[in-house]
Amino acid sequence: MASAPEFPPVEWPTLGWLIGDWIMAHCVIPDGFQKGEPFLLSGWQAWNVVNHYRVRPTAKGIHHNEFASSFFYRRSQTTRPQKTGKGPFTSAIICAEAVGPVLFIGWAEDGDYYSCRDHGCPCGFVYWYEAGEPMGTNWPTPLIQVTATSEEQTANVYAALRPMIENGPLTEIIPKTGEEFIRLPNDGRIDTVTSNARSRLGARVTFVPQDETGLWTPTSGMIKVAETQRRGLAGMGGRAWETTNAWDPSENSVAQRTYESGMEDIFYDFPSAPVSLSFRNKQERRKILRAVYSGSPWVNLDDIEGEAAELLKVDPQQAERFFGNRLVYAQGTWLPEGRWEETKRDNGEPPDGTAIALGFDGSENNDWTALRAETIDGYQFTPTYRVGDETRPTFWDPRAWPDNQIPRSEVDAAVEQLFARYKVSRLYADPQDWRSEIGEWSLRHGEDHVMEWATNRPAAMFASLSRFETDLATGRVTHDDCKATETHVFNARKKALPGQKYGLIKPADHQKIDLAMASALAHEAASDAREAGWARKVSRRVLVLR
Ligand SMILES: [Zn+2]
Repeated sequence: MASAPEFPPVEWPTLGWLIGDWIMAHCVIPDGFQKGEPFLLSGWQAWNVVNHYRVRPTAKGIHHNEFASSFFYRRSQTTRPQKTGKGPFTSAIICAEAVGPVLFIGWAEDGDYYSCRDHGCPCGFVYWYEAGEPMGTNWPTPLIQVTATSEEQTANVYAALRPMIENGPLTEIIPKTGEEFIRLPNDGRIDTVTSNARSRLGARVTFVPQDETGLWTPTSGMIKVAETQRRGLAGMGGRAWETTNAWDPSENSVAQRTYESGMEDIFYDFPSAPVSLSFRNKQERRKILRAVYSGSPWVNLDDIEGEAAELLKVDPQQAERFFGNRLVYAQGTWLPEGRWEETKRDNGEPPDGTAIALGFDGSENNDWTALRAETIDGYQFTPTYRVGDETRPTFWDPRAWPDNQIPRSEVDAAVEQLFARYKVSRLYADPQDWRSEIGEWSLRHGEDHVMEWATNRPAAMFASLSRFETDLATGRVTHDDCKATETHVFNARKKALPGQKYGLIKPADHQKIDLAMASALAHEAASDAREAGWARKVSRRVLVLR
């Protein structure tokens, strides 16, 4: 087994070479024309194995009570598209974790070898180590839980696992594979588990393949399953391995949480194509497929193209996730694809004295509080304010503040600074939770400049959103490169209302849209101001005065 050409060279100690050879000698292809023939790891599979079983150079091994901690990665997450052979691959890893040399035991010297004979397997397999290579041994009592959201899903993995064992040399060590579980030597077991199997979830497991974690959402009860299993693994020094399709980022799945945690002791395998390539364009789609299906030599890209094109007609987002291996939001996003990107101008924050309108969406302790601004020319931006020497943007995530409370006095100070620095024509503010502050601002700056604008009025809100969308489409509104605003705009979903109207909602509580709301309010304020005769000369005069 060697690194496939499309993967970088392996320049670290790993049990992966031994395990790859062990799999080839023991596991067989579970189905298809080559059923029963030795299972060889393909390019991407080998790449995953050499990484998951990467050993730390300072590792001492199980005789020093190091199990998971001998390895470079605590767990792995493999995100690959449909038909890349994730199922058979997971099955082969399960076999290795069941009766193969997956634990690090020490560093090899000249003449050291791994022999199946020493581990209760009569197959005759011998692997000669190179000096300095990590050596492997088997779990004394492996306990493996094949875990998925449904029994149907675990049955899928199981359907590849059983013939892989039954049709090859593994029958010598695993004589019987049951319908429900597989008994291993030394009281080990392979079980299948879903969120229903509460009693078994607390078990002290040695390996947990977690299948399709993109479907492990809070409503499925699988977040708890993942957490419980991680505790069980920690108790034994075992490790987990997630395999999944690209997930829907609105669902807050286990896959998403793992990925977004960005932990350095998790191995992430997530091939992708440049974002500039469009999945809707047939030629560009071919380039995307070529990139994400690399390392899967059996895949016929014409077949994949056929399936992708078919799914594109029904569910374009899912097609792009499943075959393009991309994180794509579900249907119902607020703006048409590309609209926000097209209207980005990134002119930064305009100079002091510029005539602006402001939109304010306030909160108490869960959603964000946000201010956005729009110039008379229709350029939107996130203003800044100063605290001591520090310049901060005018949005507040309660999680960043003591007791998860929005710092009201700081918001108030920011509003005052904006009125002092800019020529604020109008501020439209959603009164929810902030009525008394808005009253104060109105007293200080005049009630023709500061106005309540309640966003919970469906007809008015719909009219405002429609105007904002039309003005974005025609280029009458442009905006800065504020990442937080962009995220909130992309998060925002349309919620259908009676009479062909709609409002904006957040797809999940953790996906905020407050900066999108503040942007819509800023545009509403600016549009109304223009209609009321907000003349360009106002800003010119102010600029001259500076
Ligand atoms: Zn053997």
